[in-house]
Amino acid sequence: MRAFQKFDPAADRSMRVSPLPAAKPAKVAKADRHFSSFSNFSRAPAAARASWTAADWQAYVDERAAIREYDGGFPRTEAERLAFDDAVGHWLSAHPAPASAPEHCAQCCGGPRTYDELLPVLASGGHVWVHNKCWSVWYAARRLEAVAMLQAIGLGPAPAGSSEK
Ligand SMILES: [Zn+2]
Repeated sequence: MRAFQKFDPAADRSMRVSPLPAAKPAKVAKADRHFSSFSNFSRAPAAARASWTAADWQAYVDERAAIREYDGGFPRTEAERLAFDDAVGHWLSAHPAPASAPEHCAQCCGGPRTYDELLPVLASGGHVWVHNKCWSVWYAARRLEAVAMLQAIGLGPAPAGSSEK
């Protein structure tokens, strides 16, 4: 047996593994429609949400609209409207009303009344106290505040009277 073999270019070529035909590109998976399963954006704690930038809020609304549209099956315009509502609720929880004294209603400043109790609403650092009959007006004002703040950073429908956007 020979210790060395003469180099044979032809044999060498035949021994080489021929390159495989170019692999077909893998089929691109259909877009994952379950946005809620891969994003933790909307689950940020309230303290973190309080410092969201306009871009953060826009991303939140975009995500909520996508979830409403693809997971919820809503038409785009309805999905966007509901997403803005979600943002309002999110803004309210991220910016709770300041706590108030339990002797006075935060809405009308009145004291305790018979048949119209002062009810505690969870607030920053305690509770804000509102008459049962004042609550809907107080909450509507809170919502208006949230809408105004979100519109001020360019989200949601344009403020009434504005022809822009
Ligand atoms: Zn009141």
